[in-house]
Amino acid sequence: MTIRDIMKYIESEYLVINDTPCEICGGEYLAENSNVSIVDGIPYDICNCVCSECGHEKTFQFCAPFVEDEDLSKIKNILN
Ligand SMILES: [Zn+2]
Repeated sequence: MTIRDIMKYIESEYLVINDTPCEICGGEYLAENSNVSIVDGIPYDICNCVCSECGHEKTFQFCAPFVEDEDLSKIKNILN
């Protein structure tokens, strides 16, 4: 897993977010922040988003099973 692969993965997450309309008004979600969390030993990328139109908040959760310890610190560096 290279930084390039990780960036590709993160980009695909943003594509999912961009393709998901707000459930309240149909507006676009904007990613506010993103964190990698370990749940039951599986890394998840938790992305907090807010609707650009009405401010409705939604949390996107992406399973990131490829993440290993060293990758995790790389991702944290990218996201910080
Ligand atoms: Zn909205």
